[in-house]
Amino acid sequence: QCPWGAPNTASISCSLADVMSEQLAKELQLEEENAAFPEAVAVAEGPFITGENIDTSSDLMLAQMLQMEFDREYDAQLRREEKKINGDSKVSISFENYRKVHPYDSDSSEDEVDWQDTPHDPYRADKPTTTPRKGFIGKGKDITTKHDEVVCGRKNTARMENFAPEFQVGDGIGMDLKLSNQVFNALKQHAYSEERRSARLHEKKEHSTAEKAVDPKTRLLLYKMVNAGMLETITGCISTGKESVVFHAYGGKSVTEDKVIPPECAIKVFKTTLNEFKNRDKYIKDDYRFKDRFSKLNPRKIIRMWAEKEMHNLTRMQNAGIPCPQVVILKKHVLVMSFIGQDQVPAPKLKDVTLSSEDMKKAYYQILNMMQQLYKECNLVHADLSEYNMLWHDGKVWLIDVSQSVEPTHPHGLEFLFRDCRNVSQFFQKGGVAEALNERELFNAVSGLNITADNEVDFQAEIEALEKMNEDHVQNHGKKLPMFSSNGDPPIYDE
Ligand code: ADP
Ligand code: MN
Repeated sequence: QCPWGAPNTASISCSLADVMSEQLAKELQLEEENAAFPEAVAVAEGPFITGENIDTSSDLMLAQMLQMEFDREYDAQLRREEKKINGDSKVSISFENYRKVHPYDSDSSEDEVDWQDTPHDPYRADKPTTTPRKGFIGKGKDITTKHDEVVCGRKNTARMENFAPEFQVGDGIGMDLKLSNQVFNALKQHAYSEERRSARLHEKKEHSTAEKAVDPKTRLLLYKMVNAGMLETITGCISTGKESVVFHAYGGKSVTEDKVIPPECAIKVFKTTLNEFKNRDKYIKDDYRFKDRFSKLNPRKIIRMWAEKEMHNLTRMQNAGIPCPQVVILKKHVLVMSFIGQDQVPAPKLKDVTLSSEDMKKAYYQILNMMQQLYKECNLVHADLSEYNMLWHDGKVWLIDVSQSVEPTHPHGLEFLFRDCRNVSQFFQKGGVAEALNERELFNAVSGLNITADNEVDFQAEIEALEKMNEDHVQNHGKKLPMFSSNGDPPIYDE
């Protein structure tokens, strides 16, 4: 019999080796964690570690978050070193090229010190001198011709500068490096073919980003939403516009703050390339709701404001009972809303659908009502209303695309309203709705104003005069004219 007693095999659920390796793994991990986070983790005000609702269920996400955190730490250290080296010397050395996070990539970039520009690369020596045109220098026995091996080699080195800028020639140009003709010609050939190759690659890359339509940061945001269970799957792209890309997604099961995610969602991603947004400045800059914030913002934040604006405007419309997408969530420049349509097929735009004359008339009166509600109850002017931004779904018209909508007291609000009225009138008059008001009648019916001019030019002039009056009034009295506040009920037109 065994002196240690009979082993109780039933109680051992796994082998010793398993237990040991698990123990080892735990220890290793602990060690690693201790090494990685030596108490002071709060080096940089990163958006992730200190941010709300950190999602820790994805390894990829964690890896990216950590990398970002490490990069920030690294940069902070770099900055300290740069400061130390430069002291208060008049000539300073910039470490900018060694940073991991480019200033523009970081949202906290505004509160960081400006990085100095170094117009001249301090590491770079003057270019090697070349021989003059006549082909030789020196006198008598000391004469050097352009065929001199050393001179020629240096010249070749200097000529590398003419290669395409993407072609990496290293520090060679600044050094006293001598390239033989043979080597130089081979390099030149290579640089040339490389240039063409990269041009081709670049083309391809641009094409594929247009296809995928989102940059890595946006993809991360979308990925997070799927990961959090908010969205089930993102099925594909519905529309790529100048300013936004819209995707279809199936809603997830997660229920956040008494909100149930709709079964199908539309994700509007506002483009983070800035060019297209420049000409929209006037919509937002003069909107008093955003006045204080506008001047202080960087372009990326301005784009987020478009998304924010669309969310607020949709919410106002929702509260007034106007058929429009319901806001699900806003994350930075990505707005998730309910999908108008079914089974991945978006509802057709009014311009693309052929309605019976009965439906056409119904649609017209509905829009007339919605415009009045929008003006009176939501205190908004759509500002991009046309058959392109109205969807036909479930036997009625749905309004979309309201990021540019403004309040009527916006310095150009009434002009925008007049343009909306013109689009609607023309569409329905052409569509054969005999009852459709003309643009001026529609304008008065929506705004409750009573502009009597019987022609376009005078009407427009009166609108602009009103806008000007309101501006002056706001400047002098700090509040809007009484006719803009919602006590003068516009007449409600109906069938
Ligand atoms: P843009 O500024 O690019 O015009 P929109 O908001 O008008 O942005 O969206 C572009 C297109 O995407 C619309 O014309 C419509 O076809 C589709 N779309 C946008 N939002 C929705 C939605 N909630 N449901 C269904 N389709 C939508
Ligand atoms: Mn649109």
